[in-house]
Amino acid sequence: TWANVKMGPPDPILGVTEAFKADSNPKKMNLGVGAYRDDAGKPYVLSCVRKAEQIMADKHLDKEYLGITGLPEFTKAAARLAYGDESEVLGEKRVAITQSISGTGALRIGGEFLNRWYPHAKRIYLPTPSWGNHTPIFRDSGLEVHGYRYFDKSTNGLDIEGLLADLKAAPERSIILLHACAHNPTGVDPTPEQWKAIHEAIDGKGHYAFFDMAYQGFASGDPQKDAFALRHFASEGSIAGEGRLCLAQSFAKNIGLYGERVGTFSIVGADAEEAKRVESQLKILVRPMYSNPPMNGARIVSTVLNTPELHAEWRDEVKLMADRIISMRAALQNHLVHDFNSKLNWEHITSQIGMFCYTGLKPEEVDRLKSEFAVYLTRDGRISIAGISSGNVKYLAEAMHKVTKD
Ligand code: PMP
Repeated sequence: TWANVKMGPPDPILGVTEAFKADSNPKKMNLGVGAYRDDAGKPYVLSCVRKAEQIMADKHLDKEYLGITGLPEFTKAAARLAYGDESEVLGEKRVAITQSISGTGALRIGGEFLNRWYPHAKRIYLPTPSWGNHTPIFRDSGLEVHGYRYFDKSTNGLDIEGLLADLKAAPERSIILLHACAHNPTGVDPTPEQWKAIHEAIDGKGHYAFFDMAYQGFASGDPQKDAFALRHFASEGSIAGEGRLCLAQSFAKNIGLYGERVGTFSIVGADAEEAKRVESQLKILVRPMYSNPPMNGARIVSTVLNTPELHAEWRDEVKLMADRIISMRAALQNHLVHDFNSKLNWEHITSQIGMFCYTGLKPEEVDRLKSEFAVYLTRDGRISIAGISSGNVKYLAEAMHKVTKD
């Protein structure tokens, strides 16, 4: 029956982990993983999460189905976290929201909804480069995927001119995907001033803004600060007023709930009545896909965000994770420049933000890191800072120096 089915290529990121596992070198490092590790290199479950689980267990809750759009206490708290306590669009009940299977599921619901209902275009523009799963998600949703300039290889920073020029050149009312903070894979974020210019370019062309927020709080350590771009779009100009804004939100990284698959997808409507109609269609879209979402992760997030002591504890813990990442960036740069006297410019290691750093290492250098040092990463030179610890950062710096010095 399936003679026509061709063998597909392995996932490039999971392939890195497999090769890492097979290596017997005791110094080996896996810098491909997109999950936080503590300074001992171990997965980390937040203490606010453990406490929330205990509270939940003590309640002996039932396991009845959730509604199609999920757990209301969760989606309300999630929306407040993203849009802000003072958010006008929330106050005016203009946000249609549904729980989702983490960020990926949220993006897919968004892609499907836009394909079905967005009246103006099928074109979605992604930053170049973008998270590897964005293209298949939107293509499988029936949208046409295009790119806008984002990363400047010569500076390892943002190509703001190219970005603005491409947004202005895109046909009116295109859909523009934006990473709300901690751009993956580059770690390069616009400054608030640059965000304002991006907002104006999008507003001016009547484009639709699609935010992907997978790292709120994880980037800077402050969830409020990391929500700047989204909140600016939700409150300034005519974008929100015209219902040209949606959000995919994930709790995988910032509350460390990777495998629980908990997130939301929300759309801002022009008014409460429009949001109600949109919500009704989100339900019609979700029902035949998976009927209703899983409850456990939503209960955990809801308990954390809605219990003041746990919320405060989460704020401390997310800052701790972000700070460890920031300190590993500084240590890596410091070893390269001061211990190994690398003559290359490594400033981007600390100017970039979030879990990932786009090192600028070339594919052949990545291959040498693997074969000579048992350091594993994707061939685009992206390293997961979460995979570095105080015990191995110097070893990594030395390896990076040795493959780049000639
Ligand atoms: N968007 C971006 C930019 C990401 O980096 C990720 C996680 N790697 C996601 C969305 C979705 O992740 P998840 O489905 O685990 O929430």
